[in-house]
Amino acid sequence: MKASKSKRYFWAVTVTCLPESREALSYWLFSLGALGCEEVENRIIAYFEDQDEHALHQAVIRGVHRIRESGLPVDPQSIDLHRFPEENWMENWKRYFRPVRIGDVLCIRPPWHRAASPPMLDIMIEPKQAFGTGTHATTQLVLQAMVERRDRLPEQALDVGTGSGILAIAHAKLRPGSHVVGIDIDPVAVENARENARLNGVAAACDFRVGSIEAADERTYRLIYANLEKNIISRLMEALLQRLQPAGEILFSGILARERAELEKLLVQHGLRVTRVRQQDDWLLMETEKPHV
Ligand code: SAH
Repeated sequence: MKASKSKRYFWAVTVTCLPESREALSYWLFSLGALGCEEVENRIIAYFEDQDEHALHQAVIRGVHRIRESGLPVDPQSIDLHRFPEENWMENWKRYFRPVRIGDVLCIRPPWHRAASPPMLDIMIEPKQAFGTGTHATTQLVLQAMVERRDRLPEQALDVGTGSGILAIAHAKLRPGSHVVGIDIDPVAVENARENARLNGVAAACDFRVGSIEAADERTYRLIYANLEKNIISRLMEALLQRLQPAGEILFSGILARERAELEKLLVQHGLRVTRVRQQDDWLLMETEKPHV
C-alpha cells in the first residue's frame, strides 16, 4: 500500500512487568498522556498519540526508574515501542473502553457505546489525553464513595486534578442543582473536561479552570475530591485544608496500598480524621473529615 502523508499514527508502548508494579506503571503511563492502557498477561500496553519516539521512550524510561526507586520490580530493558496506523486503532481502542458501572447507579461509557437505561445515570466520557475514562481503580473508588453519599452530596464541591472532568460531572449528575469547580494544571485536561461536561448536559453546573488550588476561589467547601498521588497530596495538603469547611470531607485517591501508613500519618498530622479506607487492586481511597471546631 502507498504511504499517505495525512495518515494518522499512534504508538503502542509495551512494558513487561510483575503484577505488583502494574498499577504504578499504568498510573505513570496515564500521567504521560496515554490514551488508554491494557494489561495483557505480564505486560502493560499503553497507547499514545503520534509523537517523537525518543522523547516518548525517555519519558517511559524515567517512569520505570522512578518505579524501581520506590522498590517495585520493573526492567527498563523490557520497554518496546511500536508505531501503528489509525486504521488498526479502533479494534484496540474499542476493546479497551467498555462501559464501567458503579453499582446500579452510574454507567460511564465512551460515546460510541449504547446509553444505559434509566434509572441508571449515564455518563459519556470522550477518551482523549486526560486521565479519567472510568477504567482506572483510583477513579472508580471515588465514584463508589460518591454514589454511597448520593443523598447527602453538597451543593458545592471542589475537584482537584479533574482530568477528564469525570468526578465533577458525576457529582453534577448525582446532585442536580449542584455546582462543581474542577481544576487541573494541564490545559489539555481542562479542555477535555469542558467538552465532556457539554456532552453530558452539565456544562452550566461545572466550572473548569486551569491551575492548581489557587485557581479555585477563596472559599471553603464541604466536599473536596483529590484523586492525585502521594507526593502531590502532601505538597497540596495545606492549601487543601484552607479550602475545607469544618466537618467537611476530603476524599483522597491515587494512594498505593503500601503508602497507607505514611499517608495516614500525614493526614492525622494535619488534623484530619480518616473515616474509611477503601481498596481496589493495589489502590486506596482515604475518606477523611475535618473535625468540628
Ligand atoms: N479526577 C480524575 C483524574 C485524576 S488524574 C479521575 O479521578 O479520574 C490526576 C490529575 O491531576 C491529572 O489530570 C493531573 O494533571 C492533575 N494534577 C497534578 N498535579 C496537580 C496540581 N498540583 N493541581 C491540580 N491538578 C493537578
